[in-house]
Amino acid sequence: MKKRLLGMTPSELGETALSKGLPGFAGKQVARWMYVRRETSLEAMTDLSKSGREALGEEFEVGAAMPVSVVCSADGTRKYLFPVDGDPQNAVEAVMIPDDDRKTLCVSSQAGCKMGCKFCMTGRQGFHGNLSAADILSQFITIDESSELTNAVFMGMGEPLDNWENVKRAIDVLTAPWGFAWSPKRITLSTIGVIPNLRKYLDESRCHLAVSLHNPFPEERLEIMPVEKLYPMEDVLDLIRQYDFTGQRRVSFEYTMFAGFNDSPRHAEALVRLLRGLECRVNLIRFHKIPDFPYGTSSDEVMEDFKNRLQRGGLTATIRASRGEDILAACGMLSGKHRRGER
Ligand code: SF4
Repeated sequence: MKKRLLGMTPSELGETALSKGLPGFAGKQVARWMYVRRETSLEAMTDLSKSGREALGEEFEVGAAMPVSVVCSADGTRKYLFPVDGDPQNAVEAVMIPDDDRKTLCVSSQAGCKMGCKFCMTGRQGFHGNLSAADILSQFITIDESSELTNAVFMGMGEPLDNWENVKRAIDVLTAPWGFAWSPKRITLSTIGVIPNLRKYLDESRCHLAVSLHNPFPEERLEIMPVEKLYPMEDVLDLIRQYDFTGQRRVSFEYTMFAGFNDSPRHAEALVRLLRGLECRVNLIRFHKIPDFPYGTSSDEVMEDFKNRLQRGGLTATIRASRGEDILAACGMLSGKHRRGER
């Protein structure tokens, strides 16, 4: 199997080029082809000599994974399925969500997930491996809308901070002047709060943060999120409060609403107390019911009332619009079907 160039920095590409007898500056050329022109074939890199391309191609390839399927929603959302390490049975999703003049890509970082959140289809699949930086970047490079993407959210399959090294490498490519040259403000990483790597993320990047909270009471949160035992939300918040979110960088909290579990006035009041003094936004998310999970979807009236209570308590709160419902947009559903051969 050939080694993949996608995800390498220009200096790593330069060393690779030198090792195959090409000039060191070929690294910058290859980076420009891959990250600026989104080229997936060494053959097409015509400012490299033919013999140089052949020498490189003996051992290396760009290594961009192509989607094995795409499903389109009536609202314009498009869900792509990508093979992991060339294995279509081990697939992850990337979802492109259009909204006015934005096109946001919801990116996966792992095949499956170890975190075991009870309400999540990806969590139910178990863990099938970390995505390499090449697999993460493939989601940006080989979809039809590649050149039109404006934003990215690491909110697809997997816990991105459980695969920090590869996610960091991908973010570096997205934000470097020699890479996609995106502002960090265009990227949001969503986590359930893996504290050691959350600290690294906050120190080593300037991208936005979204935290999956879902219940302000530790014992209740633990019922649906085992991570609460290892990394309690209170400790996550202590860490977040050490960073500045009053300027360009933003923090938001994801709160999926489960009927009769976390949608009462008591929960709204506790949430206000928990987040008091933090410059943040709370996104209330409609739950898509899944099999063998005891709680259903909160009604529109309950969600509206919950939002109003948060706002009266001084929080910025919004109800997030559901997108792509007709194509199973809830995380992990399409790939779960794929894994079971139900396409
Ligand atoms: Fe993993 Fe996120 Fe699903 Fe939890 S919600 S199991 S962290 S993918």
